Amino acid sequence: MELYELGICEARALLEKGEIKSRDIVEAIISRKNAYDTKVGAYLTFDEEAALKMADENPKSVPIAVKDLINVVGQPCTCASKILEGYISPYDATVIKNMKANGFIPAGRVNMDEFAMGSSTENSALGKTRNPYDLERVPGGSSGGSAAAVGGNLCIAALGTDTGGSIRQPASFCNCVGVKPSYGRVSRFGVTAFASSLDQVGPLAKSVDDAAILLGAIAGKDEMDGTTPREIVPDYLAAAKAGTLKGKKIGVVKEYRELDGIDPEVKRITEEAIEKCAANGAEIVEISLPHAEYAMAVYYIIAPAEASANLARFDGVRFGHRSARSQDVYSLYTRSRAEGFGPEVKRRIIMGTYVLSSGYYDAYYGRAQKVRTLIRRDFEEAFSKVDAILTPCAPTPAFRAGEVQDPLTMYLNDLFTIPSSLAGVCASSVPAGFTKASPERPALPVGVQLICGSFEEAKLFDISKAFEEIMK
Ligand code: GLN
Repeated sequence: MELYELGICEARALLEKGEIKSRDIVEAIISRKNAYDTKVGAYLTFDEEAALKMADENPKSVPIAVKDLINVVGQPCTCASKILEGYISPYDATVIKNMKANGFIPAGRVNMDEFAMGSSTENSALGKTRNPYDLERVPGGSSGGSAAAVGGNLCIAALGTDTGGSIRQPASFCNCVGVKPSYGRVSRFGVTAFASSLDQVGPLAKSVDDAAILLGAIAGKDEMDGTTPREIVPDYLAAAKAGTLKGKKIGVVKEYRELDGIDPEVKRITEEAIEKCAANGAEIVEISLPHAEYAMAVYYIIAPAEASANLARFDGVRFGHRSARSQDVYSLYTRSRAEGFGPEVKRRIIMGTYVLSSGYYDAYYGRAQKVRTLIRRDFEEAFSKVDAILTPCAPTPAFRAGEVQDPLTMYLNDLFTIPSSLAGVCASSVPAGFTKASPERPALPVGVQLICGSFEEAKLFDISKAFEEIMK
């Protein structure tokens, strides 16, 4: 086995025994990157000198690839946007500080959809990323660089962020385990904001155990983020190790069974996964999420509204790109923003500004918030009956680069992940098998989504680990 193929658990075992040093892993990743990332394009930048130095200073640490919207001191943080080209972070995000304190080092910055808006990483202004399982296809998004790096053995594990599905859908496309923690489980300090009431940082990893370790390393209360209320982070690895489906109640969503437009292979894999859970001791319970059908509409009001406010800070004055063609302060703002933001980001800012404008605020933003409450209550009701909910992760496997042109079709990728994001609960994507190969498409990985209640990550890891075992 090559060192770049290791997961966190295996790497730690070798580091503990003193058989390898952190530098050996970083060197293996660098040569793997130089040989193979020319095809995949997972990394945007990789400060080799900085990574090797950190490895030498912490010889038992495990290197982790970092999505390019999380600040690491002294490194670029572009959010894959031209507007932040050349920006160097003056400080570490809390997740990076926590990671360093727990035996990890940041190594390499991976591609994403610009400002995390998208589902294919094609909205990156700085590079193309392909799916390591078929280089004609996208890795998903917005954490597509993270997923491609993990799935392509270009790193040991990665950090991504998830606002409406951006960890889970790319994890599904690239055969990784991805975890979106409950809202508030992980600090957002130092993580470039997209939609502040939804954003969470989480792991993309090669196994459920690895995801449990990495989430445990970054989670917890932070004075710098008032939405992180809880001091205690349970031992997620122990929860995973004890994993079992026996006696667990797994909910399947009545409304999702009647949906059109789901890839038949995704349907088959999800149905087979449910049967396997039942065969391994789980009780399958039908539940209802009556307001889930409004989740897409609600998300595409709330997320752009928050984005339009958050992205107002990129004005050509304080950060990144400044237009050379401005004559006065107004044209400095407008030209810098017109030149710096890509088309999807502009679309979101325009939508967000519209739904927040006076006269429309109550009709759109105010109403969306009310429906969001109903969606959250649907989940509370469901979790009074079941331990976890199992759904497809994404409606299709990885699609071809350039295949999805229409924004609305792209948005539908997050059909199954957005409701749990709006509810603030935790959810994982765990590999569930491969599609059958056909003349049109090779065998592609498919993940299922497992959802647990707010701050029930320990239970999520317990069930996800048991699920991973039965799918092997
Ligand atoms: N694809 C969704 C969007 O474009 C979700 C992105 C995310 O979770 N960051 O908004």
